[in-house]
Amino acid sequence: MKKLIYILIIGYISLLNANVKAVVSILPQELFVKSIGGDKVDVSLMVKPGNSPHTYEPKPSQMRYISQADIYFAIDVEFEHVWLKKFINQNQDMQVVDLSDGIKKIEIQKNFEEHESDHEDEHHEGHDHHKHEGLDPHIWTTPSNVKIIAKNILNSLVKIDSKNKEYYEQNYKKFLEHIEQTDSKIKTILKNIPKKSKFMVFHPSWQYFAKEYSLVQLPIEIEGKSPKPKALVKLIKVAKQYKVKAIFTQPEFSPKIANTIAKQLNIDVIKTSPLNKYWSENLIKLAQAIASHNKN
Ligand code: ZN
Repeated sequence: MKKLIYILIIGYISLLNANVKAVVSILPQELFVKSIGGDKVDVSLMVKPGNSPHTYEPKPSQMRYISQADIYFAIDVEFEHVWLKKFINQNQDMQVVDLSDGIKKIEIQKNFEEHESDHEDEHHEGHDHHKHEGLDPHIWTTPSNVKIIAKNILNSLVKIDSKNKEYYEQNYKKFLEHIEQTDSKIKTILKNIPKKSKFMVFHPSWQYFAKEYSLVQLPIEIEGKSPKPKALVKLIKVAKQYKVKAIFTQPEFSPKIANTIAKQLNIDVIKTSPLNKYWSENLIKLAQAIASHNKN
């Protein structure tokens, strides 16, 4: 009897401390949600390291977790366009929050030439903003966007678990400081290279980063595809013309084409991923690599 009462009490206490069960799509989001949710939120990650959020398919165990989850933090990456509806069918009590709410998205950079001729996107203002295909999903690559994401996370957690409001707000404040420190470190690193310094990438993940810090991203991939031989020749010409000294590749994609170009030009290939778990360190490292490859 004593034992039973004990079990009941423990059960009751753990019920009181029940954590918010959250699901996120990509690894950087896990960090963002944990930074604000602390030990009050369990975070489950959808797109496991090494996979691409453009093509991911959830595992059965992940679908089971979804059926018990309280909240899904979406960020409008490609696989969500296919799967989010299925997740909602699986668990209609689960709240779905789009963390990209309030972020001004820019169109996917199709190739270097278009970038050269297309100076501003103002004239695209009239386009259908609900059409997602054309908008660049890699929004979390700048501190200013992550500030908006953090606010969205705070608001949703306070709504779903209001008794821990103060706890979440304190964590949020600390996280904002961390974001600001990241931004000032990046600015310091890039201070000494010319504005509009160029960096070549395979998959165009860094457009927001480039815009924020007055850099120019030169993507190899064209509309999600590797360039055809003719385009490849052109790319090599462009890389030479701009004196590109490195190509950034992502472990989630094949490095073959980037390696070919790098070999021809005798330049470095640097692996970096916007999906890196260490969001701040990752951006700082990218800035350092860009800075060290743009000195004359
Ligand atoms: Zn991507």
